Amino acid sequence: MTQLVPLFIDGVFCQSESNDWLEVTNPATNAVIAELPCATDEELERAIESAEQAHYLWKEVAVSERARLMLRYQHLLKEHHDELAVLLSKETGKTTVDAKGDVWRGIEVVEQAANIASNMMGETVENVATDIDSYSLIQPLGVCCGITPFNFPAMIPLWMFPIAIAAGNSFVLKPSEQVPLTAMRLAELFEQAGAPKGVLQVVHGGKQQVDYLLAHPTIKAVSFVGSVPVAQYIYQTGTSHNKRVQAFAGAKNHMVVMPDANKQQVLSNLVGASVGAAGQRCMAISAAVFVGSAKEWIPELAAEMAKVHPGVWNDDNADYGPLISQHAKARVTALIDEGKAQGAKCELDGSQCKVEGFPDGNWLGPTLFSGVTTDMAIYQQEIFGPVLVCLEVDTLEQAITLINNNPYGNGTSIFTANGAAARKYQHEILVGQVGINVPIPVPLPFFSFTGWRGSFYGDLHAYGKQAVRFYTETKTITARWFDDDIPIGPNMTIQLK
Ligand code: NAD
Repeated sequence: MTQLVPLFIDGVFCQSESNDWLEVTNPATNAVIAELPCATDEELERAIESAEQAHYLWKEVAVSERARLMLRYQHLLKEHHDELAVLLSKETGKTTVDAKGDVWRGIEVVEQAANIASNMMGETVENVATDIDSYSLIQPLGVCCGITPFNFPAMIPLWMFPIAIAAGNSFVLKPSEQVPLTAMRLAELFEQAGAPKGVLQVVHGGKQQVDYLLAHPTIKAVSFVGSVPVAQYIYQTGTSHNKRVQAFAGAKNHMVVMPDANKQQVLSNLVGASVGAAGQRCMAISAAVFVGSAKEWIPELAAEMAKVHPGVWNDDNADYGPLISQHAKARVTALIDEGKAQGAKCELDGSQCKVEGFPDGNWLGPTLFSGVTTDMAIYQQEIFGPVLVCLEVDTLEQAITLINNNPYGNGTSIFTANGAAARKYQHEILVGQVGINVPIPVPLPFFSFTGWRGSFYGDLHAYGKQAVRFYTETKTITARWFDDDIPIGPNMTIQLK
């Protein structure tokens, strides 16, 4: 019998009463590996109520005790790192190396959550007026929720609930319906680490369940990561219900290749950054901008890309896995066809790719287009597959203008041996994460991370260092302490007036 994915409500892993179930498939075979309930309204209500009750108790727990929960959780996650990676591989198709990286990135955020006390320090100014001091307290919001995408089933939920909970909130997580199993294991380990009943709830479903969370008055803040249209919808709907919303959205990340760059470094980094993880990374490089004579490297790039092959997660020779679903594969191949029809030159076409022994998998080989212009669909849309489009310009200024005119602003990089070019690029580019001779510049959680422009909706750049700010309110106290003479030592007073 197929595994039925439970809900995690009020500290209990329970079977849903829903009549509406979705299939979770293995992307390498399309075999059904689990069935997932779309939670009923009554179940969602119970999860939110339980989270609210838990918050009242949890916010009074000493901050160092909350930090210790995160230390225990970090320890358990490390202990179960490989097991989590295998589970994650089965539902996403990611190779073992990629899956381990996904889990590890999440563990690093839990380490940041263990540091919660220093991140919740307020500020103090003495004598804002005679006799009066001002200081601020950082306090949790209450019940927060998170809605996560399929492509990082460990890292992205761990971006959210450990920081929110360490700050004294409770949390309702709605993981991607395509990859719920890793999230459930994360919840089990959190419970094992000693998380009090109700501080974390996990519910399942799609739009209907998300709408319920977005409209619920008890939920104070919504963290979302996913595609642009859904991010815009979540931001608009959540804020229309007066909630704090951070919505991380899609991307079109450009790498600028200067002719003075190290060619071998460019080629190998460009291949890994564009087709690694089947291009299903929000920080994947999906557009390469060749400046001047650097365009002469495109044939060699095609040859390097052709050496890379997808395969099943436990095949050590696989460079990356399948696309997440048949629907995703159909969407990407339709875009490849459109690219050809619109006149781009397909230097390498992966749309007929097969993997021996796995005829039903969602495979797509590395695909490379040159001669791409900014009006083409393959440039304008996020492809989210192992497809790289190449554009050509004459100068660095033109490259910067082209990228700044693109609606997205998640990540970018430049490869150059020239310090002045790198400095100009980092200064003028309107993108949130910038790599200099580094292809995928994802910062560690003690820095902030978010896209600019169309890659982020919200007013707090709230992953990493700033995350605590998203999940808390600042209360500023202005206090007059004394009216009278103040003792400042034996037989000494000062007169304040
Ligand atoms: P998605 O937008 O389809 O789904 C994300 C979540 O939203 C899921 O939990 C899903 O159930 C829910 N959802 C889907 N449609 C909805 C609707 N109409 N109303 C309410 N909720 C809805 O995204 P995905 O395909 O799972 O993930 C891939 C996308 O995520 C890509 O666009 C990628 O760039 C983006 N992403 C961005 C970042 C970032 O940091 N900016 C990180 C990872 C992924």
